Amino acid sequence: TLEEEIPDHWEKLPRPPIVVVMGHVDHGKTTLLDTIRKTNVAEREKGGITQHIGASVVQLPDGRKITFLDTPGHEAFTSLRARGAQITDIAVLVVAADDGVMPQTVEAINHARAFNVPIIVAVNKIDKPGADPQRVRRELSELGLIPEEWGGDTIFVDVSAKTGQNVETLLEYILLLAEILELKARVEGPAKGTVIESKLDKQRGPVATLIVQEGTLKVGDPVVAGTTYGKIRAMFDDKGRKLNSAGPSTPVEVLGFEELPMAGDTFIVVEDEKKARQIAEIRKQKKEQQEKLSRGL
Ligand code: GDP
Repeated sequence: TLEEEIPDHWEKLPRPPIVVVMGHVDHGKTTLLDTIRKTNVAEREKGGITQHIGASVVQLPDGRKITFLDTPGHEAFTSLRARGAQITDIAVLVVAADDGVMPQTVEAINHARAFNVPIIVAVNKIDKPGADPQRVRRELSELGLIPEEWGGDTIFVDVSAKTGQNVETLLEYILLLAEILELKARVEGPAKGTVIESKLDKQRGPVATLIVQEGTLKVGDPVVAGTTYGKIRAMFDDKGRKLNSAGPSTPVEVLGFEELPMAGDTFIVVEDEKKARQIAEIRKQKKEQQEKLSRGL
């Protein structure tokens, strides 16, 4: 495979965790993501405005970073994973303290478990008069998520996405878990990663959001993704700023694909554009053959 061609003498270094927020509808996933983006003190000072590119990076005052997939709920997580892409390191399970465990809470737990993604519980809406965070702990314990304070190994953080209470503590715990998981990636060498979104822009042509998982992606890099290829013509971060390069766990919006890659496709940088085109063409032919075969059956 292409990956095997990449020499493995490069050192692996700690990388930011890639996090998805899950939970029952109305339990506060969107509000939590919005509040988290606003705690991005450094960015606020620079006046950075969050673009919608499908993922965003939050930087703590001490410089540590967390990448959040923007799509709340399970869609991003499951559809990407269903296509074989492994990008999520940690799932934040949001449970409203005034509502407790609901059907989609259970679904979220099952998904995270099926894909072996560790869960941190954010017990949300603790500002509400009817909030009962202990009830959430009891209900989740019955499902096998036992709080650390009860001798289990699941981190629970009581938060209010609305007032921002304890949200920074939640971020601290996400980073603590990331440290325990020893998430690492090589920074040097050709980039590879996953396409998380793509769209056709009338002016700019195919636009794709990629998450770099290994190596560093640079403007000018020839790249293959699924059955398409291209050369990175321009690259932007989640605040819409132009970038020349992007390291592990960085989501970037890129221009330069010949056709739209699909969410869930993996991408990889190759030596030159000619090779990129050849690989994409071979893959396309294979795919068409398989489709013919399956129609014939
Ligand atoms: P989602 O469906 O999980 O994305 O939930 P939303 O973020 O859209 O939140 C659903 C509703 O709950 C909205 O009206 C929010 O304003 C409200 N909400 C979310 N978090 C909190 C919270 O911490 N406290 C209170 N009081 N309301 C909240």
